[in-house]
Formats: sequence, C-alpha cells, structure tokens
Amino acid sequence: MDHRYGLMSSEELLEIYSLTKTATSVHRGEDAVIESANQAMLKIWGKDSNVIGKSLLDALPELGGQPYPDMFRKAWLDGKTCSGQGSPAELKVDGKISTYYFDFEYLPIKNSEGKVIAVLNSAIDVTERVLKEQAIEKAEQILTSLQGYKDIISVLEETRKELHELNSELEERVERRVIELAESEERFQIMAEGTELLISVGDEDNNRIYFNKRWENVTGRKIEELLRNGWVDLIHPEEKQQFINAYMESFKKREVFNMEFRMPDSKGEYRWYLCQCPPRFRSDGSFAGYIASCLDITMRKNEEIRKNEFIGMISHELRTPLTSLNGFIQIMKTRLDAMNRDNFERALNKSQIQINKMSKMIAGFLDISKLESGSLELQQEPFQLSELLKEVVEELSFMHSTHKITFQSTCSLRVFADRNKISAVIYNLVGNAIKYAPPGSNIKIQCSKDKAGLMVRVKDQGPGIEKSEMEKIFGRYYRSKGSPTVSGFGIGLFLCREILIKHEGNIWVESEEGNGAQFYFTLPEHAV
Ligand code: ADP
Repeated sequence: MDHRYGLMSSEELLEIYSLTKTATSVHRGEDAVIESANQAMLKIWGKDSNVIGKSLLDALPELGGQPYPDMFRKAWLDGKTCSGQGSPAELKVDGKISTYYFDFEYLPIKNSEGKVIAVLNSAIDVTERVLKEQAIEKAEQILTSLQGYKDIISVLEETRKELHELNSELEERVERRVIELAESEERFQIMAEGTELLISVGDEDNNRIYFNKRWENVTGRKIEELLRNGWVDLIHPEEKQQFINAYMESFKKREVFNMEFRMPDSKGEYRWYLCQCPPRFRSDGSFAGYIASCLDITMRKNEEIRKNEFIGMISHELRTPLTSLNGFIQIMKTRLDAMNRDNFERALNKSQIQINKMSKMIAGFLDISKLESGSLELQQEPFQLSELLKEVVEELSFMHSTHKITFQSTCSLRVFADRNKISAVIYNLVGNAIKYAPPGSNIKIQCSKDKAGLMVRVKDQGPGIEKSEMEKIFGRYYRSKGSPTVSGFGIGLFLCREILIKHEGNIWVESEEGNGAQFYFTLPEHAV
C-alpha cells in the first residue's frame, strides 16, 4: 500500500524512522490502525510485526480503559498534537502486564490541504528514569516522615527524661513519706510504751490491732490474748453492758467515746478507769477506727466517793446538835414559869456545849476549805504553851466527866504561834482520846522540853492504832476501819498536821494495837 505523506511515501518515512533509535509507529483512522512500527516500538509493545494492519486496541487490547486510544482519536480528528512526559502505560510484555513510562508524542501529519493523513507516534521508554525519580521521591518522603519520626523521638526522649525525673522525685517523696511514717510509728510506740496509760488501737471494722505493754501488766493477759479475745469481759458487771452499748453507738456514729468503768488489776482488786476514744480519720476523710486510752482514776474516784460520804456525814452530824438545841429551847419555852434557876442553867449549859460542838465542826470545815484554796493564815503571837494546855484540859474535863484527864508540865516555855489554831490541835487530840478510849479510862497530857523545842504528848488507854494505819490517819478524810461506829469526818488529824507544819512543828503517833495511843506534837521554842 502506498500512502503518500507530502513528498515521501509511508515506506520512505518508516525507513527514515527505523533508522532512529526512537520507537516510532504510524497510525491511521479513528481506531489508530497500525500502518507501520519500527523494531524499537514493537519491542516496547512486546509484540511482533503481526500487529501491522490491526487497530490499536486489537493489537494491544491491554490499552482498553487507558487514555491512549482516545488521544490517538483526538490527534486524528482534531489534528492536534498530544504528548506526555513520563506517562504510565500498562503493557503486556512477555505475557505479563507491567507499567512502563514514556515520553511520547502523537503528531498528526497533514497533507497540503491540511487534512490529517496519518498520526506519527514516537515514544521513548523512560521507565528506568521515572522509577528512579519515584524511588528518590519515595526516599525523600521516607526521609521527611523520618524527620517527623525524629521529632517524635526527640519529644519522646524529652518526655522519657521528664518521666524519669518525675519518677525519681516520686520515689524520693514516697521514700520520705515511708521514713516519716516509720518515724511517727516509732514516736507513737515510744509514747504508747512509755506511758502509764492503757493504750489500744482498733481499725475501721472494730478489729483490735494494738495494745501497749501496760495492758499486759494491768490485766495479766498476754498481748496476743488481748488481740485475740479482747478485755471487755473484765469490766465490772455493773458497767459492762452499758459500756458495750455506748461504745457500739459511738462506733456507728464515728463519734468520740468516753466512759468510766471498773476493771480488776492482776491481784483481782477493782480499779476505776476513764476510757477516752477519739475516732481516727485518714487524710481522705475516711474513718480508720479508734485510739483508746484508759487512765487509772481510782484515787480521784475514791476521793469523790469519800467527799460524797463526807457531805452526807456533815449533814448528819450538824443535824444532831441542832436537834438537841431545838429540844432544849422548846423545853425552856414551854416550862419557863415552872423551871427553877438550876434546871434553867443546866439547859443553857447543855445548849452551849452543842453550840461549841457545832462551832468547832464548822471552824474545822472552814480551815479545810482555806487550806485547799491556800488562804489559811496564821495569827502568830508569843504565849506560854503550858498555860494553853491547862485551860483546854480544864474545859474538856468540865465538859466530859466520863474520863479522867490529867495534865503534867515539866517546863514553862514560850512559843510563837497561832493560839487559836494550836488550841484546835489540842482539842482534837484530847477530843479523839475521849472519843476512842473507853469511859472511865485515863487520859494523860504532858508537856516537856525537847531538842527541837517543846513536845506535847497525849496518851490514852483506848484501842490503839494498827501499824499500817499510823501514817494514813493523818490523811484527808481518812478514818480507820473500826471508826465508822464513832462519829467523825476524818479531817481532825489532817488539820493538826497541816497547822503544825505551818508552824515548822511536827506530829506523829506511837501505839501498840489494843494498848492505847500516844500522840506527840512539837513546836519550836520562841527565842525572846
Ligand atoms: P475522826 O476522828 O473524825 O474520824 P481524825 O482525823 O481525828 O478524824 O482521826 C482519824 C482517824 O484516826 C480516826 O477515824 C480514828 O480511826 C483514828 N484515831 C484518831 N485518834 C485516835 C485515838 N486516840 N485512838 C484510836 N484511834 C484514833
């Protein structure tokens, strides 16, 4: 077939193109029928010369769906050159479809009238270059993303460092806290073990978790036993149930619990305790249980009991002389006319004795309260002690004919003292001798010189005083076991001792039980 392209036939053109290394083919018509193709083009297509004369899609069906057949059509119909740089094409070479890249041009060849008579396809396989470029681009992308990773890595490294620092700071803090806790635990142990208080700790579920050693000493129970079985069973039956109920109530409300109760010591003797349980709360506000401390308040409690008994006794003792006084006054009023002078005088004397008794009692109470408030003051003056002793003995002998009271003085020394208070001391000692020694017995009072000054002795033939009580009887409100049958308050000897101490004197007792008592007191001599 001889198609003419201007001056040259298509064969001539093909020959020229086949000389070039550029892959070339000539096409005609809308379907781009292959008119000719050089070896280089056939190689690109992966086909042989059988494709000559076939439409582009018949020869290379894999191009279906790719833009090239349309581009040929455009060049053929519109006479416009279509070209591309590094354009991809899927071609079936050696039975395998692969992507190749081409710089190509579809050049419409026109005749002298300007009509398109053929389309010249020239292509250069740039697959290698494009793949290199793509690889470079990818590598760059990877590098860029690696840079991103590098940034992330440095951020991570920073974070890791910060975390490390934070961690060591936290570790330090935890360590410090552990040390602090250990120290506070140690402080608590030292405090709890070094106190006279009974200390115990319970947790939020009311489990016993700690008892100090004092609990073991007081109850005689081992700490393991206390932890296992507790101690509530030891409480005196009169307080036990009330204690349990009140404790459970406070535990439910997480409130402070305070209560007094009795519990036996290791010898089985009941002692009074004040139990104080403040609730414990953690730093987050949750309830952690109780710390209980029990204080031995036996002394205070006994004092309270003695005080109450004392008030009861005072009322009773004051009522007795008042009742007698009232009786005498009634008699005197109703029998005023019928009474002779002697009877009248006797009644008046008896009234006076009761009044003196009450005055002395009240003076004693006043002295006690002054002593307690620290306001007991002495009105000191020089006087002859033996004279005072004589006066008191005469008065008491006159009032109490039941006993034979004698006074003997071997010296006449002066003292510098509060006459009324020393008189109260003598009244007390002789009054006790009258009170405790049997009627008809002798009471001897002696005054002698002593190296410390003057010494007075009051000796009776009464029941005497047990050795174990010889010191106790000078205590406040103390009355010996046998005394309650005889009226009294247990303040007389206490006051005597306090008064004599204030005078820089002394008082003591010597006695053999059942063989009478000898009370002694001394006063410093007054240097004139
Ligand atoms: P009161 O006589 O009011 O009980 P006191 O303080 O004078 O108080 O005496 C304390 C205790 O000492 C008495 O309860 C009594 O037991 C004992 N006592 C004091 N004087 C004698 C005495 N002469 N003989 C025996 N016991 C005495």
